[in-house]
Amino acid sequence: MSNGRNGGEQTFPEEQICTALAQGTMPTDAKGLVGRRCPRRECGKYFKLKPGTGLKGDVPCHCPYCGFRGDSDNFWTHDQKEYVKAVAMNHASQELHKMLKRCEFDYKPSGGFGISVSMEVTGSPQRFHHRYRERELETDVVCDRCTLVYAIYGAFAFCPDCALHNSLTILRKNLEIAEKLLSLAATQEREVAEHLVGDALENIVSAFDGFGREICRVAAPRATSPSAAEDVRFQSLVGARRRLLKLFGFDLMLFVSNPDWDFACRCFQKRHLLAHKMGVIDEEYVQATKDPAAVVGRKVQIRPEEAKRLTDVISQLGEKLAAHLIPPPPATSPRS
Ligand SMILES: [Zn+2]
Ligand SMILES: [Zn+2]
Repeated sequence: MSNGRNGGEQTFPEEQICTALAQGTMPTDAKGLVGRRCPRRECGKYFKLKPGTGLKGDVPCHCPYCGFRGDSDNFWTHDQKEYVKAVAMNHASQELHKMLKRCEFDYKPSGGFGISVSMEVTGSPQRFHHRYRERELETDVVCDRCTLVYAIYGAFAFCPDCALHNSLTILRKNLEIAEKLLSLAATQEREVAEHLVGDALENIVSAFDGFGREICRVAAPRATSPSAAEDVRFQSLVGARRRLLKLFGFDLMLFVSNPDWDFACRCFQKRHLLAHKMGVIDEEYVQATKDPAAVVGRKVQIRPEEAKRLTDVISQLGEKLAAHLIPPPPATSPRS
């Protein structure tokens, strides 16, 4: 479907929307996505999805931000409703014009005193216009489970089709980026390589922190203190473990082997040194990690193999944590 442009505003030829309406679809943006809006008054946020991807058939729609589930016909945007109204008015006006045209007549006078009577319909049907443009959003997502292509503000969301939360997808994407940094480091001189490995380590910790906070936010209603659950941080594994135990009653450490847990805790401490101490070892690090290679005042060493191993441990930890806190919703089947 091609979209015309007029003065920077995207418009859709009327025949297209008529066809789209007849087929139960709406015109799309340049990437093939169509806008939607959460009908829940407290939310009302905008997102887009790509028709033809995701679940087949008449399935309910889920708001990616608040998870509200409703009939997909309730998710049209204000602009789309106005556009449909304009198209309907144009159609009605055209039909009326055609009908009046059919009623034209012209009676000629008969005899010397006859009167001529005629009616001619002039002019053209009234045109109603409503142009709109779908908005630009921040993150494009492809659902891991149902393959729906959708776009959102922010990074985390529920899939509008199958309601799967994308937190694990985002974590995996970030871990892949960290691995790419490590591959790049292998081709660089020592100083640059050290920076890249340090960046990879910081990215892994930040990715897990963002992921952990989000799933705690989603699972907060089930916590012993929902407000405290919305404020759990994951930059320290030891601290996160303590809070999860208190709020949700499970032990994060048991999701991986003891050596992997100790290893990950040490890596997170190294990240703390990089972020706050210019990478220089302090007493706190030595106490927390019992790292036999650590010397106070020296720069902490991070080997690329360590960062690589950390991506594997965090991937495992993330998968189990997500399964525990936000298990995937049951598969949505089309309505009969
Ligand atoms: Zn919503
Ligand atoms: Zn999905």
